[in-house]
Amino acid sequence: MSGPVGGAPGRAVVIGAGVGGLCAAARLAAAGSEVVLLERLRHVGGRWSSRDIDGFRLPTGAFLIAMDDPLAETFDELGVEFPVRAIDERTVYSVQGRLVGTGQRGGLRALVGSASELDGSDADAVLARLRDALASPPPDGDVPLPDWLASAGAGPAVVAAVHALVQAFMGLNASEVTATAFLDYLRATAGRGRHGIPPAGSRSLAENLAGFVNSHGGEVRLGSAAKGLVVEGGRVVGVDLDGGAQLPADVVVSDVGFGTTAKLLERSDAGAAASLRDMGATVSAAPGITCFVASKEPFFDHPVVVVTGTRRVCLVTTPTLVAPELAPPGWHITESISTFASSADDSDPKSELTEHMADLDDLLGDWRSRGRLLQSATYRGEWPVYRSWPGTDPADRFPVPGLALVGDSVKPPGWPGTGASAEGARLAVEGILAGRHGRAPGTATADPDMTRR
Ligand SMILES: Cc1cc2nc3c(=O)[nH]c(=O)nc-3n(C[C@H](O)[C@H](O)[C@H](O)COP(=O)(O)OP(=O)(O)OC[C@H]3O[C@@H](n4cnc5c(N)ncnc54)[C@H](O)[C@@H]3O)c2cc1C
Repeated sequence: MSGPVGGAPGRAVVIGAGVGGLCAAARLAAAGSEVVLLERLRHVGGRWSSRDIDGFRLPTGAFLIAMDDPLAETFDELGVEFPVRAIDERTVYSVQGRLVGTGQRGGLRALVGSASELDGSDADAVLARLRDALASPPPDGDVPLPDWLASAGAGPAVVAAVHALVQAFMGLNASEVTATAFLDYLRATAGRGRHGIPPAGSRSLAENLAGFVNSHGGEVRLGSAAKGLVVEGGRVVGVDLDGGAQLPADVVVSDVGFGTTAKLLERSDAGAAASLRDMGATVSAAPGITCFVASKEPFFDHPVVVVTGTRRVCLVTTPTLVAPELAPPGWHITESISTFASSADDSDPKSELTEHMADLDDLLGDWRSRGRLLQSATYRGEWPVYRSWPGTDPADRFPVPGLALVGDSVKPPGWPGTGASAEGARLAVEGILAGRHGRAPGTATADPDMTRR
């Protein structure tokens, strides 16, 4: 970089070193802003990090990293090393215990085809309807996905198969997703879908971005929580830190979601905090559960298996088939992941875990004698799988002058996960460089990139 890009704010303070905060901080540093990135934990990455348990490197959230989405593009654009090892084969589907789609493109076709053998659906008609709807917006509005599939001729087994796909990649149950949101997802990821595993864990990726911020004159402060936002004349002008210190800023970028950002605003501007809460009220988080089993022999020969027809579990991965470095020599890690029966109700994680473990007994058979449970974890509240449901994305990334929001609560439609946070950060920084964060109170317009196509 030869000098600041036109419109780059002098000092940018970024709250939260998740994917969204790190991508925004790196892009602002590249544009020439002086960046301070605050992270309350002692490590970077948030839900895109990893930690060591008994010599096994387990993710704090994201474990499958897309190699051709906006996150990978961010690394590429900034020239930051992206240590992710590609998974050579496509996703495999387990339909009533039979593995389909092995090693080939067109997994959705194989999945629908195989499920249709169970319920007599016309697979060609369902796939043709999907193709048509992808080419033009569906005329039938925001109907729940299962109803839309049924109207296209899908029987219960096909609906259950698509449900597993939605659980695995959109983090919700099919009945919670509209046909439009599903089609948005397919469109956003069309022609993409190459995934990989970082052999040193997701944390290595987050650390590389933090290193980029440091090497571009920025500062990454670990163990440093923002305690409040400083507001003057209706504009956010800085951040309160522990011990009464303040950090002035030309722009503050928040990666901590609506609820926490509203709490940070509360003391200096209760009205702005209330309107932020209102804006976030339409955005619900998607909870989930993961279990990690260690074993000498893998349970599946395929790294990524979407499983259909279970109580809860939708995905079983064996990352060590691709990256043996994640486990001690001679060991494997199997991860299972599930949604909750209702993503709108995360109040009973215990029974959700019981259902998850019952699925594990079915799927991995003798795992209790062949392996051992390394960790079971529930993701909900402030640490969910995703902070917003696909299709309920909010309409503005600059809700208060001087403040920009990034992260998966303000993602562009269609994108899930880490790619969503990376794309949101790109759009937020583009908006900041264009001065959109500085507009006067009351002149907010809907963010064009966030409104539904
Ligand atoms: C179990 C699970 C599996 C997943 N699997 C995948 C996957 O395979 N692929 C994929 O793409 N996505 C996956 N995701 C989703 C993905 O992890 C998230 O969408 C993404 O990491 C969200 O990043 P973020 O920047 O929006 O937020 P976060 O990662 O939540 O970052 C927010 C950061 O802010 C910090 N913070 C909070 N309050 C403060 C404060 N007051 N001051 C300073 N710092 C603060 C937090 O500690 C955190 O580090 C998964 C998530 C989970 C939980």
